[in-house]
Amino acid sequence: MSQSSQNSAKLTETTSDEMESSFDVGIIGAGPAGAGAAYALCDSDATVTVLEKSGGVCGRAATRRKNGCRYDHGANYIKDADPRTAELIPTLGTEELVDIDEPVWTFDETGEITEGDSRDEHKWTWTEGMTQLAKRLFAETDVNINHRTRVADISRVEKAWTLTDTDNTDYGPFDALLLTPPAPQTVTLLEATAWQDTRLETLMSAAADVEYRTIRTVVLHYPFMESYPWYGLVNVDKEHPVGWLSREECKDGHVPAGESLFIAQMSPEWSTNRYDDPVDVAGADTASHVAALLDDERYENPDWIDDQGWRYALPENGIDNRAARVAESAGLYIAGDWIVGEGRVNKALWNGYDTGTRIANALSLSQRS
Ligand SMILES: Cc1cc2nc3c(=O)[nH]c(=O)nc-3n(C[C@H](O)[C@H](O)[C@H](O)COP(=O)(O)OP(=O)(O)OC[C@H]3O[C@@H](n4cnc5c(N)ncnc54)[C@H](O)[C@@H]3O)c2cc1C
Repeated sequence: MSQSSQNSAKLTETTSDEMESSFDVGIIGAGPAGAGAAYALCDSDATVTVLEKSGGVCGRAATRRKNGCRYDHGANYIKDADPRTAELIPTLGTEELVDIDEPVWTFDETGEITEGDSRDEHKWTWTEGMTQLAKRLFAETDVNINHRTRVADISRVEKAWTLTDTDNTDYGPFDALLLTPPAPQTVTLLEATAWQDTRLETLMSAAADVEYRTIRTVVLHYPFMESYPWYGLVNVDKEHPVGWLSREECKDGHVPAGESLFIAQMSPEWSTNRYDDPVDVAGADTASHVAALLDDERYENPDWIDDQGWRYALPENGIDNRAARVAESAGLYIAGDWIVGEGRVNKALWNGYDTGTRIANALSLSQRS
């Protein structure tokens, strides 16, 4: 039996443990918000089942391995902008934790590079990459994660939620259901929800108002390494085709010695216009912009390239708290960076955590009454 089917909370395979559990919670999405919610629920009486469409965890905080390199091609790092992050990260284990020392500098439309302010913020990842965040949070829990499980339909039967994936397998019933995909994907799920209730309409229309920036990440590898005083360069006037450029060799365990690997996150305009360009065409254009920016023509010829398109990379706006919580009285919750309106791992993590805490409180109250 596969790991996924062993772990699933399929309607037909309810185990005795689940029968004894006080309540069941379903979480759609194993990104930072889903992991934060699961972490918050781990001290409660909930049996938590996570349904994740991909084969991994941590969503847009993604890591890939290729040709002996490891790189974070979505979120670059997690900052300690929230004091709770500074407290939490070391408790997940300091082994293999990477705090990027080099600073982030800035550049403008003309390609002029300027030293950034040297704020004392941590920029954390792990030698194994950003996915460690969710892996380590889930490791603290005993949740069941069902990978390669894309939820397609939701229904409400006798005050409980059940889910159906694209293979027509059912999951549940859940006393509470938490949706964490980006807003447009959450809207698609809400549209596929069989529940005649005005709260669903309110939630859907609030989520539909969230707009996103599209980013195409282009990865450029070179068989040599040049030293720079910066780890990353950010385009501050938003007029350059390159929105962000960073050096994965500044992260321990990511790039073999003597090699360099750039993460170029292209501007929303460039990314939208060239989203479907073949990777070699997009890579060649990106490399020419990087070579011009760094004033070094060797960067025009990477020895290999890779890419990833993020249609829904970063939310431009959030939604108001009242709309976000309108269906919580029926056990239907949402969480993620788009609730807060800021595409940051720490924002998603703590929005998920706070939502998970509300779920635990609501279910334990309902149990007592
Ligand atoms: C290119 C890029 C660079 C970034 N850089 C940074 C950075 O440097 N620092 C920073 O803090 N943040 C950064 N971010 C933002 C950060 O990655 C996000 O804010 C964070 O990942 C949001 O977490 P989330 O859990 O809300 O959503 P996600 O990470 O998107 O997780 C949602 C999960 O839901 C799953 N899912 C979706 N639909 C379904 C379905 N139907 N069924 C089952 N599962 C489903 C997805 O596969 C995914 O795993 C960056 C993002 C991008 C794209």
